[in-house]
Amino acid sequence: MPATDVAATMGYLARALKTPTIGRVWEQLATTARAEGWSHEEYLTAVLQRQVADREASGTSLRIAGAHFPAVKTLEDFNVDHQPTLRRDVLAHLAMMTWLPKAENVVLLGPPGVGKTHLGIALGIKACHAGYPVAFDTATGWAARLHAAHRDNRLEHELKRLRRYRLLIIDEVGYLPFDADTANLFFQLIAHRYEQGSVLVTSNMPFGRWGEIFADDIVAAAMIDRLVHHAEVLTLGGDSYRRSGRRELLKTQPTPGADN
Ligand code: ADP
Ligand code: MG
Repeated sequence: MPATDVAATMGYLARALKTPTIGRVWEQLATTARAEGWSHEEYLTAVLQRQVADREASGTSLRIAGAHFPAVKTLEDFNVDHQPTLRRDVLAHLAMMTWLPKAENVVLLGPPGVGKTHLGIALGIKACHAGYPVAFDTATGWAARLHAAHRDNRLEHELKRLRRYRLLIIDEVGYLPFDADTANLFFQLIAHRYEQGSVLVTSNMPFGRWGEIFADDIVAAAMIDRLVHHAEVLTLGGDSYRRSGRRELLKTQPTPGADN
């Protein structure tokens, strides 16, 4: 076949297969293959590998965009030395994402500024890389969504729709207390996810005070039961990372008015 026909046919085939990377790289890789004496098998493998790598990368970025994380935070950026009581083996286990196919949960507890949201996002991003769809929102944001669905008589439908996300991240449970209706909607969300899909919850309140958040000790206890039945509960502690960062900065700056 003349080279121009090969190019046209390859262009057509790549479009028909919806493999744009193959359309882009086959010619250049063929040149490399000839120059380096690759076998046919090696050439074919190289072309397909490039296509798969591109598809995986674009899938990951679509999932990250679709999760609506409020910021980009990674596990690599998380300074574990600042959390001496946090078990590194547990964190390493969570980073492997084996808990998602088992519909297990993660609960991150601790005072403000200790990195709960950071870890939540970082695990969410890892999940996106591992191929799992994720949805992130604050507890207040989830409450608003559930209220809207309930008002329009499509709560059941919305809860089913959320099943497509293998991980729901509910950030900042407890910053604002919920009224009885909201607490009930939240309970339905957690009950619906139970053993079906993972939830990652962060809260500044220990479980003992969740009765205050949900306006009802019994609803809170029923929710905690379902949440922690298959879960890793991590309590972060220490000083706010924001504040300690500022202290470090102050240490290195001359104090105004002081004799330096
Ligand atoms: P929380 O959700 O517990 O209130 P955040 O996760 O929002 O705290 O953390 C506050 C800020 O400090 C964020 O910018 C976060 O990236 C950073 N931070 C907190 N803990 C750590 C840590 N151990 N290593 C690196 N950055 C951290
Ligand atoms: Mg937070």
